Amino acid sequence: MKYLTEYRDPELAKRYLEEIKRTVTRPWNIMEVCGGQTHSLVKNGILDLLPKEIRMIHGPGCPVCVTPLNLIDKAVHLAVHQGVILCSFGDMLRVPGSEMSLLEAKAKGADVRIVYSPLDAVKIAADHPDREVVFFAVGFETTAPANALSVLHAHRMGLKNYSLLCSHVLVPPAIEAILEDSECRVDGFLAAGHVCSVMGMYEYYPLVERFKVPIVVTGFEPVDLLQGILMVVRQLESGRAELENQYSRIVTEEGNQRAQEIIFEVFEVTDRLWRGMEIIPNSGYRIKEKYRAYDALYKFEVDIPEVEEDGQCIAGEIMKGIKKPIDCPNFGTRCKPETPLGAPMVSSEGACAAYYHFYRLTVEE
Ligand code: SF4
Repeated sequence: MKYLTEYRDPELAKRYLEEIKRTVTRPWNIMEVCGGQTHSLVKNGILDLLPKEIRMIHGPGCPVCVTPLNLIDKAVHLAVHQGVILCSFGDMLRVPGSEMSLLEAKAKGADVRIVYSPLDAVKIAADHPDREVVFFAVGFETTAPANALSVLHAHRMGLKNYSLLCSHVLVPPAIEAILEDSECRVDGFLAAGHVCSVMGMYEYYPLVERFKVPIVVTGFEPVDLLQGILMVVRQLESGRAELENQYSRIVTEEGNQRAQEIIFEVFEVTDRLWRGMEIIPNSGYRIKEKYRAYDALYKFEVDIPEVEEDGQCIAGEIMKGIKKPIDCPNFGTRCKPETPLGAPMVSSEGACAAYYHFYRLTVEE
């Protein structure tokens, strides 16, 4: 398959790897801010193949992992105490809340349903006019167009029983917060190709300019990642700090403008709390006043108390690049995909799940 097999070509991957080894002369920390890239790096064994000078840091690239505990509690509250049909993508269901996960709520009789698109949730609302339907809208800029579109569809259909529990997060403000952190040890970034396919590249120029840090928009296949890493290393070794695009087969400067129009018709930028981190200014979307009737936080009484995070999970330190999943004392013992203590062990994009499924095997061999 074109665009897939050619980016999994072992010979090409080997050539990029050799070129990285020839180019690198000293240690560099490179962060990928995308759970898909983290999984590909771990699954394809790239972490072990890179020269020891290159240290990959797995940033906060999993939207499920950074969804605040209180919001998961609100989703559970809506399903258990407000009797709504709570629709969600599958990987949110096992993320632990302070009392229970959505899956445990479902087991106790709450009407929690897995959907594959927010438009499925709109259809459920149309089919059940006597029930309130809430879609748990979690994700980066990539999922925002479809979630916004679901609101526009519900609006056009005249549905009054559909709303979003919105937890959208944005990548550039997270990179800015990481770079502003005094403990930051990141020398260069791989930016998430799928996010840039929607938003384009313009938001990253100010970061490169202000922090003098190389950023390379990168895809997800092994050859993409090795080429992206080589592009970052070449910049670092030659003292350059530029925005470059490895994923040019998909990403354009301006991105998908129709998708951006749909996003900004429904959403506006707001401050957002990132689980394991802190409130990052201008790092999320909320529903605009015009569509407030579709905002579950305004529609329902969900003012429930904040509960302290369980101190056993070091996900925050992992997402800031201070520690790796295998540094967590609970990794693979008390915390496994079947019995997760934190979101990064649950989500298909979580760093702990990636290490559990793939890296653990190489460590144990
Ligand atoms: S292994 Fe489990 S407890 Fe440790 S950081 Fe990952 S999710 Fe949290």
